[in-house]
Amino acid sequence: MLKCKQCGADLGFKNVYRVFDLGLERVGVFCQEHAEETERGLKEKRFVEEYNGSKIYSRDGKYFPYWDCQYFFDNIEDTRKRIDSPHIAIVDKQAVKLFLGE
Ligand SMILES: [Zn+2]
Repeated sequence: MLKCKQCGADLGFKNVYRVFDLGLERVGVFCQEHAEETERGLKEKRFVEEYNGSKIYSRDGKYFPYWDCQYFFDNIEDTRKRIDSPHIAIVDKQAVKLFLGE
């Protein structure tokens, strides 16, 4: 049985919420209330700046042009360029692995 990482409430298919940190790193499962609270707290902590309508987040020297992003940049200038030109292809080495499932 899954339990909310914060309050210990029992979770089923209908009320289980997964929270991911930047780079799609899994944080854990929560009830809806604590999933929202946890994600909001992470976003506040990682937020760098709003650029051209997009929020840039950073963690461990990696910059992400949006929260659920699978790739990152190692400096903020390239991140801004990406936001300005979303059609530019991303170099493979900048991709981070996407983990799926449990
Ligand atoms: Zn909870």
